[in-house]
Amino acid sequence: MGKKPPLPPWLEHAALVKKKMKDRGFKMADRVQICTHCGEYAEETWSLKGGQGLGGRDICACMNCGWARSWRGQGAARLLEEPFDLIGFLGIAPRG
Ligand SMILES: [Zn+2]
Repeated sequence: MGKKPPLPPWLEHAALVKKKMKDRGFKMADRVQICTHCGEYAEETWSLKGGQGLGGRDICACMNCGWARSWRGQGAARLLEEPFDLIGFLGIAPRG
């Protein structure tokens, strides 16, 4: 009877991550990409459309390894944050 290692937060809270992203107005693209970090076909892309004068935000998050990237704004002024703390951004506290 071994002790089960705790799941990483993006897996343990996978449903909550999706719900919170939707609550914030993000729309999930219907394509999944290969994660540049772990090489698994598990990277989801979420987009938030900004209003006028407000930049949107795009987030790529791997549901396998948890690696996330985020872009703010649009066009040449896009600002990349990598790695991006998706769990912190959504206010999901890791257990423990
Ligand atoms: Zn990955």
